Amino acid sequence: MIKAVFPGSFDPPTLGHLDIIERASGLFDELVVLVAANGAKAGLFSPEERVGLLRDILGARPKVSVRSCDTLVADFARDEGCAVLVRGVRNPSDYSYEYELSLLYRHLNSALEFILIPADPRYLALSSTAIKELASYGADVSALVHPLVETALKRKLRPASRSH
Ligand code: ADP
Repeated sequence: MIKAVFPGSFDPPTLGHLDIIERASGLFDELVVLVAANGAKAGLFSPEERVGLLRDILGARPKVSVRSCDTLVADFARDEGCAVLVRGVRNPSDYSYEYELSLLYRHLNSALEFILIPADPRYLALSSTAIKELASYGADVSALVHPLVETALKRKLRPASRSH
């Protein structure tokens, strides 16, 4: 039985993330989508809100669960018996970042294997940062995020109230 973890900020989750979740859940017996606290990034959504969004979007699936952690992901993986860590890769700079991350993780938890999944071409230019920027100007992001995320962004950003 192989249990995998897909960690990320998911601030907010995009269709690119959901595609990786869909594809990874077909590869492993169990997949934990992990909202990992990232001290360097101030979030638009709280970790609890991100977990709530992911749980609502993914619904009840026997193989997929959504968790959060404020410890090292390498420690979470060891404690939860995850043998594989999944990440998505959009371009060479993602690859180089993820490769360096994998070296660091190998140092922290040598039992954990990194699996990098190439992004679907539809989502190559898609990032949570871009979504937040577009949504803050009231742009239509409906082709890039789940409707629940679109609604949550509208509530959070209230573009109608922006003024100079
Ligand atoms: P982090 O801050 O940990 O990079 P993100 O939420 O930005 O967290 O991304 C989580 C993972 O999802 C990363 O591996 C990232 O490369 C991947 N990812 C982000 N956007 C996409 C996308 N559009 N398609 C595929 N993978 C993606």
